[in-house]
Amino acid sequence: MPIENDGVMIILSSPSGAGKTSLVGLLSKLDNFEVSISHTTREPRLNETPNKDYYFINETEFKRLIKNQEFLEYAKVFNNLYGTTRTQVINHLNDGKNVLFDIDWQGADQIKNKKLDYKLITFFILPPSKEILFERLSNRDMKDKLIVDDRMKQFEHDVLHWINYDYVVINDDLESCYLKIKKLIEAEIKDSSKDYDKEFIRKHVEKLTS
Ligand code: 5GP
Repeated sequence: MPIENDGVMIILSSPSGAGKTSLVGLLSKLDNFEVSISHTTREPRLNETPNKDYYFINETEFKRLIKNQEFLEYAKVFNNLYGTTRTQVINHLNDGKNVLFDIDWQGADQIKNKKLDYKLITFFILPPSKEILFERLSNRDMKDKLIVDDRMKQFEHDVLHWINYDYVVINDDLESCYLKIKKLIEAEIKDSSKDYDKEFIRKHVEKLTS
């Protein structure tokens, strides 16, 4: 059972381009919220700060962390390795901080299956439509049409994991999506009633996959 003053774990996953990273950025500004900083073997992007956005490490170092069982979860995503180390997360939770995870469905499954003694709330973020997703991906730093096509194909697979999450939220507008997630987290922490329509989400997923 979670201890009353412990923080809660909040996972946000989404197909590429649904805006999850911006949402994590907004939520991290809330009082008492910390972002879990992942390790990755991918190269830093121009706008990224090492040790803030990610700990950038090579494959040998990543494998050493696996061998030493330092990861709470890890996975291969788009040919790179990503993982969350256990100590940083547990320390924050024991200090009463809520920890935000920006991780994919494989990592979310692993953390769920660990059944840790901390409350866990999982969110899956979806785009309003495939057309808008295509537009967002094309407008990113991904000028390469092949990468956009690849991400669109990947979307068809990734979207199917929505069913394993506590809540699915549609990111049609960043601010209102953020407020929706914030309200659901507050309701979960207080154990009060939640404003959530699973049938509406099921129909939205049907539209996205048709
Ligand atoms: P990006 O390279 O665009 O920052 O992230 C690619 C994907 O990897 C995103 O879906 C992101 O959520 C996921 N990711 C980032 N860090 C981790 C991690 O520590 N574990 C797992 N399983 N996925 C991660």
